Amino acid sequence: MAKVRDPGAGLFRLLGRALRHRCPRCGASGVFASWFTLRDDCPSCGLRFEREEGYWIGAMIINTAITFALFLVLFIGGILLTWPDPEWGWILGVTVGTNLLLPILFYPLSKTLWSAMEMRWHPLEEDEIIAAMERIEG
Ligand SMILES: [Zn+2]
Repeated sequence: MAKVRDPGAGLFRLLGRALRHRCPRCGASGVFASWFTLRDDCPSCGLRFEREEGYWIGAMIINTAITFALFLVLFIGGILLTWPDPEWGWILGVTVGTNLLLPILFYPLSKTLWSAMEMRWHPLEEDEIIAAMERIEG
């Protein structure tokens, strides 16, 4: 028996929805109850965001990788811009400040990005589609 899968959206549509903090499946807004709280399910299509145990490790990896990449750019850029006498206090302040703030600012986007990317690689399966329909119907 062939598996029934959600047709889903194309990669760019999924990423566009993620960048706007929207549901990757239907594009609805209001998926966050607060900056740090993603609702369990999409209020529009019923998608359960946490599709399996440990699901959000991918979002944590994205958040950590983006933070580390920006740290490297700022650190190396700070050294290059102030060479031959690097302004260590300035470089330290900017990089530490960025490392403290960026994970907080990027937190919701890391979740919607991960959800969109994961949905692209692993479209909804029949049982997830049925469960989502049941959530919105009742
Ligand atoms: Zn949705």
